Amino acid sequence: MQPEPILRIEKLVKRFGQFTALHGVDLDIQEGEFLTIVGPSGSGKSTLIRLLVGIEEPTSGHISLRGKRIETLPANHRPTCMVFQSLALFPHRSVGENIEFPLKIRGDAVGPRRERALALMDLLHLPQDFYDKRINQCSGGERQRVALARALAFDPEILFFDEPLSALDFRLRKNLEKELKDLHARTGKTFVYITHSLEEAMLMSDRIAIMREGGFEQIAVADEIYAKPVSRFVAEFMGEVNLFDVESTGGGGLQGSGLEVQMAPDQLLPELRVPQGGHGALMVRPEAVRFLGPGEAADFALDGVMRAEYALGSRTQYKVEAGDGREIAVEKLREDRFAGRSGDPVRLGWDQGHCHMIVEE
Ligand code: ATP
Repeated sequence: MQPEPILRIEKLVKRFGQFTALHGVDLDIQEGEFLTIVGPSGSGKSTLIRLLVGIEEPTSGHISLRGKRIETLPANHRPTCMVFQSLALFPHRSVGENIEFPLKIRGDAVGPRRERALALMDLLHLPQDFYDKRINQCSGGERQRVALARALAFDPEILFFDEPLSALDFRLRKNLEKELKDLHARTGKTFVYITHSLEEAMLMSDRIAIMREGGFEQIAVADEIYAKPVSRFVAEFMGEVNLFDVESTGGGGLQGSGLEVQMAPDQLLPELRVPQGGHGALMVRPEAVRFLGPGEAADFALDGVMRAEYALGSRTQYKVEAGDGREIAVEKLREDRFAGRSGDPVRLGWDQGHCHMIVEE
């Protein structure tokens, strides 16, 4: 049985005039988890976070923190804390003063305040001599760390993050993503994070909630969302993917345009079956597609023409044009690179164990 969630959201609705930004969402957040809310622009991520931290009130629905309703409590009465995208630090004050700000408000004495600030700086890998450095002399990454240290100084029950890394350059962002994940493990706090970036979500989170048009499309652990998306929307949102329209054959097998199904219908895995008369999208990730040599077999195969090759560092991605004109993405490690050139005919294949079926009635 799941333990009592730290935060429970029930039938939460938010309307702005005629426009409904959240359509009655439900979500349980467990104590100590790292939950990331991902979704395209305008899907309602920020609106949801604003309701959770108390910057806005819901039109209807409930938010409970450890079983106690909080949806009408103002932000400063909620034991949660938000790390904003724009950091809201005091630029002319020192790192130490910024981190200690919540402790000062609470009335802590100077000595313990300083001690706590230095400990938090240590936790966030900020050198101790930064204590007297002004915020406007700190780099973007350092400011992020200060903002995080200040958020932790509040000792919040839950930390909310609204795209805190989106303004940073790629390398710094990648480092901070890992640091955030480590910080989560070290503090044991509950983290709720919103982002556009699926990669960021995959790297850091225990669970991912995918938002679409004011509701959740799927909430699951990262691996499940990646391997078993419930819809085309999630599959496509989760990165490069190949989706084939298929339908059931009379004998319980599958057929799809341009797709060779090379096994008998009764060998088809039960999870890939489509109900009689129904259709679905057969999903295969680019890394599961192989270049087939002469005579080499695979459960599914198709012929195409190599169109383009993109070096992605340790991997190479290929675009292959299938007979019906559609593009298939293939991804290989550098050492398994395709030996031919653009314009060469290729035969692609993959096995059913690497597939997933999105059934569409
Ligand atoms: P982004 O990733 O671009 O920040 P988001 O998923 O966070 O997007 P929200 O900011 O939650 O999206 O906005 C959801 C929808 O609600 C959008 O269509 C937005 O225009 C609308 N919206 C948000 N705030 C208001 C407001 N105060 N008045 C009217 N409409 C609003």
